[in-house]
Amino acid sequence: MEKRTELCRIAKMLYERGLVSGTDGNISMRTEKNTVLITPSGVNKGLLEPEQLLELFMDGTVAAGSGKPSRESGMHLGIYQTRPEIDTIIHTHPAAATAFAVCGKVLPDRCLIEVQTVIGRIGLAGYAPAGSEKLAEEVKREAADADVIFLQNHGVITCGTSPMAAFNRMDAVENAAKTILMAKIIGEIKYF
Ligand code: 13P
Ligand code: ZN
Repeated sequence: MEKRTELCRIAKMLYERGLVSGTDGNISMRTEKNTVLITPSGVNKGLLEPEQLLELFMDGTVAAGSGKPSRESGMHLGIYQTRPEIDTIIHTHPAAATAFAVCGKVLPDRCLIEVQTVIGRIGLAGYAPAGSEKLAEEVKREAADADVIFLQNHGVITCGTSPMAAFNRMDAVENAAKTILMAKIIGEIKYF
């Protein structure tokens, strides 16, 4: 599938699954030319069309497209620069996982198998305003050895070597966050 089409398909799946709300979040994919396709700033991800995507060089300059690239472009590019194997990056504000991030917490270990298998180590980027260079730096450091990063008081990033790997991680993170929250209401969590 053409990369632009694939990115829009993932965006629609995120929206329909309730993993992204309103105009939140941004999604990017690395191309064969080592440029990056990224969502424009401030658009609803459920209605995104392939021609709306911007193509960026690794230094952040626009290679193709009109409109304003996501204000988190620097955050995405920083990950692509440090992690050559990464193909897709998703950033959204899913409610349950973001609630952990609001409290400065990541999902606990030894509680659900998918946290060990699909999700892996979860990084925690310290608070910095959305779109800031400081946020991009915080994320770049955490992304060196994590495919999932929680952003303090903000949201979640998932990375993958394919669009579906990044999507599945976001889906698994939010489902695990919901399960852990529900377990806390029912009683005491038993760890393995
Ligand atoms: P953009 O619409 O500029 O991509 O920003 C959305 C967002 O989630 C900021 O962190
Ligand atoms: Zn955000």
